[in-house]
Amino acid sequence: MRIDLHTHSTASDGTQPPAEVVASAAAAGLDVIALTDHDTSSGWAEALAAGDALGVRVVPGVEISCLRGGVSVHLLSYLHDPDDPALARMLASSRTSRESRARTMVARLTPVTGITWADVQAQVHGPATIGRPHIADALVVAGVVGDRDEAFATLLSGRGPYFVPQTAPDPVEAVRCVRAAGGVPVVAHPAASKRGSCIDDADVEEMTAAGLAGLEVDHRDHSEDERAHLRVLAHDLGLFTTGSSDYHGAGKKNLIGEHTTDPDVLTTLEALAAPLVVPGPDGPVGPGVRGA
Ligand code: AMP
Ligand code: ZN
Ligand code: FE
Ligand code: FE
Repeated sequence: MRIDLHTHSTASDGTQPPAEVVASAAAAGLDVIALTDHDTSSGWAEALAAGDALGVRVVPGVEISCLRGGVSVHLLSYLHDPDDPALARMLASSRTSRESRARTMVARLTPVTGITWADVQAQVHGPATIGRPHIADALVVAGVVGDRDEAFATLLSGRGPYFVPQTAPDPVEAVRCVRAAGGVPVVAHPAASKRGSCIDDADVEEMTAAGLAGLEVDHRDHSEDERAHLRVLAHDLGLFTTGSSDYHGAGKKNLIGEHTTDPDVLTTLEALAAPLVVPGPDGPVGPGVRGA
């Protein structure tokens, strides 16, 4: 069984609609994929329907933007209640912050590149979570850069003068929120040092005390040394480890299924998610209770 637990669609900054991501997974011979768009669950229904039609199991998820001391942390959440009010508020607030931050970046870029906010909006398909890749696409259309990679290496670099950070929750707070919503939290690419600064082992330990379940280890942005370190850390803290592609369609070189997760890990992950409970006349109520 081949399992890829980290993919993006046009619901955020991927280039394929959710159903096409699932079709790409089927074509690549995958049995299970998680759709984990940035800060939104809006692609779930389409992905789940495509999964039913194509015989691919779809694990609904989200990649939550977090910040700790100026360091960006991405937290994957799987199988949470998408209607949990606190989690929904956290994600909505991140989407709002992402948009205002993107507007500020574009305002800084306009004098040097000529691109406008309307040019960026033309690259966003439907009610998607906005990110730097949409600005990159506008720069490509304007002929300023050749592709997303060039945009990220130059004008959109986190170390450059046009970059503006978004506001985002602390990762420990996000872990608690995911657990309260019945979800299973896993740190995405925790040691991807070429992207920028990363959280340290003490941060992961603190997140574990708050309910963290796993670490994404096999990811193209991790070196062999980084993977080896994360495996030891996960073992010491009792966390499971995953492997995933972080597929973005044509937006990044990452191929769907290029890294995969052990089936036993998926079983563990699913057992940790709050079960679907249909409340009877007198309850139950509380975290993890879904449906009605
Ligand atoms: P943002 O979330 O707006 O800060 O933008 C970061 C997002 O862009 C992440 O999801 C990355 O996967 C994606 N990204 C980072 N580097 C690149 C790149 N070189 N090409 C395309 N997408 C990238
Ligand atoms: Zn992305
Ligand atoms: Fe990420
Ligand atoms: Fe991602």
